[in-house]
Amino acid sequence: MSDCIFCKILNKEIPSKFVYEDETCFAINDINPKAKKHILVIPKVHVKSLNEVDDNMLIKNMFDAIKKINAKEGIKDFRLQINTGKGAGQEVDHLHIHILAN
Ligand code: 5GP
Ligand code: ZN
Repeated sequence: MSDCIFCKILNKEIPSKFVYEDETCFAINDINPKAKKHILVIPKVHVKSLNEVDDNMLIKNMFDAIKKINAKEGIKDFRLQINTGKGAGQEVDHLHIHILAN
C-alpha cells in the first residue's frame, strides 16, 4: 500500500535495517523501543490488522519467524503484543507483532 510506513520500509523507500527476513515476513527494531529489545515482526503482504487476517498460514509463519528471531537475538524471556484497532493503540495500519524483552 503506497502510504503505509511498513510497506515503504519493505520496498526500501524508507531505510531500515532488517534484523530478519524470509519469504513471508521481515523484522525491524522499533524506532521508539519500549523494552531493551523491541522488535516488530511484519508480514510482507499488506494486511490492516489481525481482524483482516483470513490466512492462518500467515500467523503460523509469523510465529515461526518469532522463534528464529529470538534464537538469533538470544531472547528467551519475552512478551508479544498485537495492538488491533485504534482503540487498542494501533498506530500503524499494517499487521505486526511486537516482541518485547528486557
Ligand atoms: P502499533 O501501536 O501500531 O502497534 O505500533 C507501531 C510501532 O511502530 C510503534 O511502536 C512505533 O514506535 C513503530 N514505528 C512507527 N514508525 C516506525 C518507523 O518508521 N520505523 C520503525 N523501525 N518503527 C516505527
Ligand atoms: Zn503496509
